[in-house]
Amino acid sequence: MLDVNTVINPATEQVITEFPVADTSAAEAAIERSAEAQRAWVRLPLSSRRDGLLAIAEVVEAHRDELARIESTDVGKPIVDACAEIGGVAECFRYYAGVVDKILGDTIPVEGGVDMTFREPLGVVAVIAPWNFPLPIASWNIAPALATGNSVVVKPADLTPLSTRRFGELVDGLDLPPNLVQVVSGPGRTIGRVLTTHPLVAKVSFTGSTETGQDVMRSAADTMKRFTLELGGKSANLIFADADLPRAIAEAPQSVFGNTGQDCCARSRILVQRAVFDDFVDGFVEATRALTIGDPLDPATRLGPLVSAAHRERVRSFLTGEVKAVVAGEVPEGPGFWLAPRTVVRPDPRSRIVTDEIFGPVAAVIPFDDEDEAVRLANDTIYGLSGSIWTSDVGRALRVARAVESGALSVNSNSSVRIQTPFGGFKQSGFGRELGLAAIDGYTELKNVFIRTET
Ligand code: NDP
Repeated sequence: MLDVNTVINPATEQVITEFPVADTSAAEAAIERSAEAQRAWVRLPLSSRRDGLLAIAEVVEAHRDELARIESTDVGKPIVDACAEIGGVAECFRYYAGVVDKILGDTIPVEGGVDMTFREPLGVVAVIAPWNFPLPIASWNIAPALATGNSVVVKPADLTPLSTRRFGELVDGLDLPPNLVQVVSGPGRTIGRVLTTHPLVAKVSFTGSTETGQDVMRSAADTMKRFTLELGGKSANLIFADADLPRAIAEAPQSVFGNTGQDCCARSRILVQRAVFDDFVDGFVEATRALTIGDPLDPATRLGPLVSAAHRERVRSFLTGEVKAVVAGEVPEGPGFWLAPRTVVRPDPRSRIVTDEIFGPVAAVIPFDDEDEAVRLANDTIYGLSGSIWTSDVGRALRVARAVESGALSVNSNSSVRIQTPFGGFKQSGFGRELGLAAIDGYTELKNVFIRTET
């Protein structure tokens, strides 16, 4: 008998849908079909490849409202955020459509001939996606993989598979080689494992926890797969006394509590220079209280529920014992996996609140005296994904940005992700880069060709 995935709306605890998940033989068959699709795709003219990516962008754009509603209901994220994210999915395919005929090689001066390099596709790429930004993160990997001539098998997280499954149906309706993009639903421990061990899979693009990322590396080692691993984070928001404090305060709550804190880029360690510490904390709690928590489908909502009951229990486990948190905001009564934002002021820097990725609406606010201490605290973590620096001193902004061990930093801004710029982690936040032209390296092998010209 086939296993069934029952998908729950986290705002209502109602069943959205049930469907049979793939078994391992179905996943293996999908990989074999994918290898065939890749051979057809790579033989098409570059203009057809470009038009294929543009067609995907157009079909996503045409179904933007439907996909956003699915994402909002499945993840519990505010509809305004879901709508913006699905718009970003279409943009991502458009961006990589423009890249198709700009994948350049080098000519290298050598003696006796001409030497040149080519970027060759890898073959079948497995995309293992997380539950917090399901279709956006899948698209960051699918689009560059296709642009460089690869085929893709995508495994969405079992908690939130619906937008990716609908995307798969929409792409199936396009005039592309059959099975170029296949969606295979099922648990990580079975289907994920097939994807990370099958010899026909050349690369795994994985986004999720650091622990699972380590497991993926181990299981993919035997067949020497390529990886992009986008893992956990515990990013710092560094606020210096010379910053535009009202702006830093106004934007800080969304940077840690956005997506109800279920964001690998969440600035969950807020480091504030002592001279403005108390003003910051007061303003931050007040600004947090102003975030509307409620029905994700209501356009006024800024924060939805957590993704599941089990995840809410995990987040609550960080808030027991000695931990004293300021709770800001009211959650709806009745069903739903709600949790109001929590701010922990001056926690012990060695406590789990500060060291662990909580992946929920919990912020730690910690004082510092000077630039050196700020950098030391920011780097006192196993992670290195994102972060922000708020200051009016451009020299300090650059010094600190260079010193913080993190893949993406913003000055006087909390943005982390832009389609045109590289995104990925230092340290245990992973390796490889998604997005921008940097992603091209991760989806191609570098080939060198020498032609003798001397007789
Ligand atoms: P996981 O890392 O367990 O899951 C991420 C994806 O990997 C899912 O599609 C999952 O499938 C799949 N997977 C799980 N086990 C394996 C395996 N052995 N081999 C291959 N694939 C596998 O994350 P969780 O969903 O459990 O979240 C736990 C924590 O991870 C969060 O609390 C957070 O700290 C972090 N996280 C970070 C994300 C990020 O954006 N960097 C995103 C999501 C989580 P399935 O779930 O269907 O079993």
